[in-house]
Amino acid sequence: MIPLELIATLRTATHIAVLTGAGISAESGIPTFREAQTGLWAQYEPTELATPEAFRRNPKLVWDWYAWRRTLVANATPNPSHFALAAMETHLPSFTLITQNIDSLHQRAGSRKVIELHGNLARTKCFREGVIVETWEETGETPPRCPRCGGFLRPDVVWFNEALPAEAIKTAYDKAGGAEVFFSIGTSAVVQPAASLPIIALQNGAIVVEINPTPTPLTDRMTFVLEGKAGVVLPELLQSVWGN
Ligand code: NAD
Repeated sequence: MIPLELIATLRTATHIAVLTGAGISAESGIPTFREAQTGLWAQYEPTELATPEAFRRNPKLVWDWYAWRRTLVANATPNPSHFALAAMETHLPSFTLITQNIDSLHQRAGSRKVIELHGNLARTKCFREGVIVETWEETGETPPRCPRCGGFLRPDVVWFNEALPAEAIKTAYDKAGGAEVFFSIGTSAVVQPAASLPIIALQNGAIVVEINPTPTPLTDRMTFVLEGKAGVVLPELLQSVWGN
């Protein structure tokens, strides 16, 4: 049930910003980092694979893990929550979608403007030089090598202990600070600096709304908590506010 006060606010709001995390893709079959992994990868903690140290220690292991995740994503499809956010963008004059996800499911659902804080699994870059690499020679070596410098290639995603893309985080801070309503959806709100975005919105007078089946460290500070799966709550919210 969507609170009537929230419905009324959304009908007249002009600046809305949304932060999404791994939970929004859970219903598309992509595991979050807090869920147990399956198959070959069940013995590894994602938080220990998604680091530059892990790549330096064992580049093949990390490359293979991302290759597995790429296959998971390629076989997945956007779920009703991704489609609801794409529809929301069409109803609002100023709508900002900020994601921690690297899976492109927002774009595949039709969202046009997506600020990607943690990069994108579909891109590859040179581990040594950081430049984006689009093509390389397959020699059978894993990971493949950069055609420019011969260093290892890696996915263009932000690992733990790495800086976020400066432009993306700056825009995200600006949009969070200017939002009338800020949604935090499917994120455990522990990975910084993304987790500070709802707080920035709150400090600047926004109504903050969390959508998550499980409480997070930020739950108590939220104006509204819509407890449940994003794929259920978001279509209901869209229907209640805009009728589709
Ligand atoms: P997280 O794994 O820390 O937390 C996921 C959150 O989603 C939890 O709070 C959980 O309760 C909630 N959740 C689970 N199912 C949900 C549902 N159906 N609807 C709504 N919420 C649901 O994820 P995070 O906060 O995004 O941070 C961890 C890091 O993991 C990020 O850096 C992100 O880049 C990375 N990651 C991305 C993907 C992806 O691209 N799909 C997948 C796994 C991890």
